[in-house]
Amino acid sequence: MKPLVQVEDLVQEFKVNQGFLDSFKWKDKKLVREKKAVHAVNKVSFDIYPGEAFSLVGESGCGKSTTAKTIIRLLNPVSGRIYYGGEDISRLKSEKMLPYRKKMQMIFQDPYASLDPQKTIKSIIMEPMLFHKVVANKKEAEEKCMELLKKVGLRPEQATRYPHQFSGGQRQRIGIARALAVEPEFIIADEPVSALDVSIQAQILNLMMDLKDEYGFSYLFIAHDLSVVRHISDRLGVMYLGTIVEMGTKRDVFEHVAHPYTKLLFSAVPTVGEEPIVPPMKMEGEIPNPVNLPQGCVFHDRCPYCKEICKTVRPDFKELEPGHQVACHLFA
Ligand code: SF4
Repeated sequence: MKPLVQVEDLVQEFKVNQGFLDSFKWKDKKLVREKKAVHAVNKVSFDIYPGEAFSLVGESGCGKSTTAKTIIRLLNPVSGRIYYGGEDISRLKSEKMLPYRKKMQMIFQDPYASLDPQKTIKSIIMEPMLFHKVVANKKEAEEKCMELLKKVGLRPEQATRYPHQFSGGQRQRIGIARALAVEPEFIIADEPVSALDVSIQAQILNLMMDLKDEYGFSYLFIAHDLSVVRHISDRLGVMYLGTIVEMGTKRDVFEHVAHPYTKLLFSAVPTVGEEPIVPPMKMEGEIPNPVNLPQGCVFHDRCPYCKEICKTVRPDFKELEPGHQVACHLFA
């Protein structure tokens, strides 16, 4: 099967605002101007297949949301390639991106902030349908809107209400209905349940999975909560400081966890009455500043297994078993 989305060596950076004088440094006895940047995404590569739920997981600030926003072209990549259905969309201008904007949709973390408070639910859901011409007219759009509301667990009579009249879980259901309105093939869900009560999270996740099974689209899930990732993913990539350090199927990563950073993440998961995935681990040090990325392995400052080579040579991916890849010198 061919991938639906391919991400190759994706790089995303944000310039740091410095004073004019602060940007000059002495280098080899010369005064040179240095432009600093936050290295948010650093040569990230992965594929997502049709009908697959792929997750990016990691602590906040690891670059997972920036990767997602770059793939959907809310941000332009600094370098690297994004292919959708085999077509290179990395540098398409807005006009040429339009057909892809219909195929790729996003569900946001904060459903309230992503819904226009001035508009009724009906107009929020109908607007993209009419814009992308997935329906012939307003009447058809209204019928489809009512159908979608029922699909996501809301009542058609709620269509004339405004976002503030709904609970957080209901607003996320509206966000899902809006994403489905244009019949997408690929949905990016950026921490879709992290702003919701725990009791509501499972309902929304189950709804999202049921809809995927019914419509057959693919997901890119962005999450920091490993129980969410375990529930929803077919495959996942673990990110640290803008790079993927381990990638594989849910079984590969949860049952044969290999990378020291993944072990650290797993060791922090509280378990009640169950064996922990990884025994508690103590990790030294702070996450390095993404403006000055460490040489070699980006995790070496904090890794208890760090060897000399880790400080200078960035590890390549090694395949531990088909599809299970780890970037770590322990597996050379
Ligand atoms: Fe630790 Fe070295 Fe592996 Fe990095 S490459 S995770 S520093 S052992």
